Amino acid sequence: MRIVLLGPQGAGKGTQAQRISRETGAKHISTGDLVRAEIKSGSGLGQKIRDYNDRGDLVPDEIIVEMMRPYLDEADSWILDGFPRNESQAEALDKMLEEIDAELDTAVALEAPDDLLVERLSGRRTSESTGRIYHAVYDPPPEDTDEDPGPFVQREDDKVEAIRHRLRIYHEQTEPLKDYYADRGILVTVDATRNITEVTGDILEAVGEVEEKA
Ligand code: AMP
Repeated sequence: MRIVLLGPQGAGKGTQAQRISRETGAKHISTGDLVRAEIKSGSGLGQKIRDYNDRGDLVPDEIIVEMMRPYLDEADSWILDGFPRNESQAEALDKMLEEIDAELDTAVALEAPDDLLVERLSGRRTSESTGRIYHAVYDPPPEDTDEDPGPFVQREDDKVEAIRHRLRIYHEQTEPLKDYYADRGILVTVDATRNITEVTGDILEAVGEVEEKA
């Protein structure tokens, strides 16, 4: 099973990718996590890409493609979260898959209106010690430090201005990929305004359906 998960920031790509990975055993590959890990490591590359990340801009295609390339061949079954983000990356992915004689099964597009996404993202808090994600209002971090010691931080790119900027980029550059995969007959869309469990169910069903047809 090889899946691309498309969707705007805040639609729940990361959460859903983790859940699908747990349910199916497919490896979760998140370019956003790779980018943040590289920045945290303090490497030269990390320093080079920090500003793009903090502003909410896309890291240049050549860098991101090289960062994720080694992971494609690591497992037969994976779910890509946050890649590709534009047509040139989608073409690079096709080429890399051809090189390892693999094919994409499904592109799942999560859909939700911008206002809901801004509300979700601006409240997002991440535990620096456990990596768990909370929401300041809907799923607040625990006060008991045994459960999660925190600290609970807001990502630089989750500030409202950066969120709006990222959504603009999504609509301009990433959303057209829905047509790219629809033309190939492998696109399924999922309503991401529903609750987490329902969305996971919809994705699993969609992926199963496509596999049955194949
Ligand atoms: P995410 O967690 O997926 O929202 O990614 C966080 C940041 O990492 C993005 O705002 C970009 O700066 C960078 N990034 C992640 N994936 C990509 C990609 N496929 N292309 C370019 N930049 C990316």
